[in-house]
Order: sequence, then C-alpha cells, then structure tokens
Amino acid sequence: MPDTFNDECGVFGVFGHPDAANITYLGLYALQHRGQESAGIAASDGGQLRVSRAMGHVADAFNGDVLAHLSGSSAIGHVRYSTAGESTLSNAQPILIDCAHGQIAICHNGNLINAGELRSNLVRQGSIFQSSSDTEVVLHLYARSKAVAIEDAVVESVSQVRGAFSLVMLTRDRLIAVRDPQGFRPLALGRLDGAYVVCSETCAMDLIGATYVRDVEPGEVLVVSTSGVRSIKPYARAPLAHCIFEHVYFARPDSYVFGKSVNEVRTELGRSLAREQPVAADVVVPVPDSGVCAAVGYAEQSGVPLRMGLIRNHYVGRTFIEPQSAIRHFGVKVKLNPVRSILEGKRVVLVDDSIVRGTTSRKIVRIVKAAGAREVHVRVSCPPTISPCFYGVDTPDRSELIAATHTLEEITKYLDADSVAYLSLEGLLRAVDPERSSYCSACYTGRYPVELPQDEAAYLRLVLKLDKEPVTK
Ligand code: SF4
Repeated sequence: MPDTFNDECGVFGVFGHPDAANITYLGLYALQHRGQESAGIAASDGGQLRVSRAMGHVADAFNGDVLAHLSGSSAIGHVRYSTAGESTLSNAQPILIDCAHGQIAICHNGNLINAGELRSNLVRQGSIFQSSSDTEVVLHLYARSKAVAIEDAVVESVSQVRGAFSLVMLTRDRLIAVRDPQGFRPLALGRLDGAYVVCSETCAMDLIGATYVRDVEPGEVLVVSTSGVRSIKPYARAPLAHCIFEHVYFARPDSYVFGKSVNEVRTELGRSLAREQPVAADVVVPVPDSGVCAAVGYAEQSGVPLRMGLIRNHYVGRTFIEPQSAIRHFGVKVKLNPVRSILEGKRVVLVDDSIVRGTTSRKIVRIVKAAGAREVHVRVSCPPTISPCFYGVDTPDRSELIAATHTLEEITKYLDADSVAYLSLEGLLRAVDPERSSYCSACYTGRYPVELPQDEAAYLRLVLKLDKEPVTK
C-alpha cells in the first residue's frame, strides 16, 4: 500500500482553438501530478465527438496519430487517480455518451457523496451503467432530463448530485464547466489566442501560454459557445469548503488555487511551523519534492541553513527490476538518496508536508541517520491527519492513519526520530484561511462540511472503518 495521499484528478478544457487536442494534451501534461492511472481526451469538430483514453501517464497515452484523430476546435481532457470506482480503462475519463440531447463527454474532479444512492435509484428504473465511476451518474441524470435546452438538462442533472465536483463537459458545440456550491476542488478560467480554457490548476495555463481570467465560482455553471460565455448560478448559496489539502500537498507550488499562490502559502506554513515548533539544529533538510516550500519557510524563519540533504531520483519508472537479495529500505532508497556530506554529524530538522501511515517517514528517518545524522527532528507542515476524506482524495482507512491511532510519543518512537512536531490547526488556518470561513479541514478535525446521506454514511463507516458517525459542521 503506498504511504501517501493520492491526488484526485485533473481536468482541462479548451474551446475555440484550432489545435484543441494538442493544447489539451499539454494541459494534461502539466496536471499529471493530480492523477497517474489513466488519461483521456475528447474532442469535437462541431459535428462529432471523438474520444481516446488509455491507462498510464499522459506521455504514454497519446501519440501524434491519436491526437490527429481527435480533430476539432474544442476538447476536454482528464488525468485520473481513482477515488471512487476501480482503476480500469472503463473508469477512465472523459466518459462519452450519445443520448436524446446528442453526444456529451464529461470529466470530473472530486467525489459525489450521494452517487451510490442515485445509482441504485437509476438502476431500479432501468439504467445500465458501463463503469463503477461515480461520475457516470451525472450522465444518466442528464440523459433522462426532459429539458429541451442542453444547459437546462445539465443544470437539472448536476442539481441532484452532492459532494465535490469540478466538472468539464463537451457537447458538439459547447464547453460546459460546473463547480459545486462549496467549491471543494479548484477550477480556473483563462484565455488563449481568443479561445477559452478551463483547468484544475493555473500551472496548465502557464505551459500553453494562456492568461488566467478568474476562477469558475463555486455553484457556477459556465457555458462556452461561439456566442461567448454564459454564467448560470442555479444553486442556493452554501458555505464555502475549499479543500485545504490542495494548499498543503496536492497542487503544484507554481499554481494559484482558490486565489492564492500555493508556493507562498506553503512557505508561510513552514515559517509558522518554525515559530511554533523550534528546535536547536544545524541544518534544515526538506523531504523532496513536497516538503521543499515548507522547508524554505522553516529555514527562513529559524535562521538554520537549508540544505538539500536528500536527493530525489526523478527518473524512477513504475516498473524496474528489483534486486533478488533484500536491500534495506530499497523502495525509499530508489527514490531518495541521502547526501552524507550534508548530514554527517549534524542535528537535522527534517521537514515534510504530511505523515500518512508513517512507514515511509520511518524509512526516511533511518536513511538520514544511516548517513551519519546525529539527531533527526521531524517537522510536519500541517496538523495530524486523523480522518479520511469523502470529497475526492484517496486517504487510507482511519485505522491506518498513524496520527489517528497513536500518540505523539508513540509516533516519535515509531519513526525512530529524536522529536516529531506538527503545525497546529490554528497555524494552518492563520496562513490559509484567516477569516475561518472558506475551507474544509475535515481530515484534521473530523468535522465534515457536507452531510453524508444516512445509508451512504453507514457504508462509508464500514468501508473506511470510522469508529463513529462522521460529524458535520
Ligand atoms: S477532508 Fe481533507 S482532503 Fe478532503 S476535502 Fe476536506 S480538507 Fe480536503
């Protein structure tokens, strides 16, 4: 089992560009960190939609011939990490259907918390599902809508789903972007040579040379056609619940999400961590790559020099031939190598952005010690993760989250560290959400912003091994 939180998904769309499929390919390339299991693109030439999906990374999923086949001036794309449904090609996105309203393709980032309930109702009424993905429910609701206008059918279908959804849909002549009323997942709107672009993170716009215009607002349905952009606000206003973990871990540091620079937020988390959890040390060492921004902030605030005492091998493929004889901590060593000249004899502050099960952190502490570090003080730039996510992030069962089941003293002992300390919730909120009004932080508090339907709650309690009813605020 991987000892990480797995990114959810990344979505991208472009309307009105002669090179739409290629632009989407590049956009997905920039969003690869949000999902590595499968990738797909659907394109429209104004008359017909075509789709191509494959398992694996974006660079492996497409080639020149495939992209040439995806002709047309509008396209949407998706990179997937499965948070609902199995990791199979049938669950890859975009999902394309043909129904009474014509062809439509859909990409989704998030997790629909009432998908199980809706799906059961639809199956009882005769619907036949092609996948186990929660996203397909939206298409079934859309296909059944009696509304005449496509926009009205989209609004009718998305009004029935609950939870986290940043959706990008493509019809023959329209691109439609939808964001849930709480705004769990990011979705940004930009312009490129007169074309419109929507994407999960602004780093995708940087790669293709697009200009950021604004975020798609929580609860907004944005319809892009040759007539321009039309904004529909079908939802009642709801308290915002942007995912705070986007800033802590998921989003790329060169992106802006929820109107804030991820790099600036993460660096500030490191400064706050240094103020809250100082320790006498000789060197600050980040766990690359995810701990780098916070380590920069920690070093800046503490005055302890930052050194790259761990080097990441960026060329580790998913398949390599493992040695037949056991090499201690091989899995971690193949990705991270310690720099002995930096670590030997030093009191090290090891900065990371999260601890999940603790197994990887323990191996990293051990390789830092084996490289000669005198002391290792682990500092984590977010509070202890104690609850699973229901809104599109793949978290392990609660029973496997080390902070949910162990005291700080036990964690320190398990990691074999000299000390372990986390940023406080107060410190995190001060850096990200000073008004305390816009963010979900349920994985640190267990207080869930969107109530789960009763039967769904029972199911998730069973699956996720929650020991009590999820709390909603
Ligand atoms: S529970 Fe955690 S990971 Fe999930 S949406 Fe809330 S803050 Fe993000």
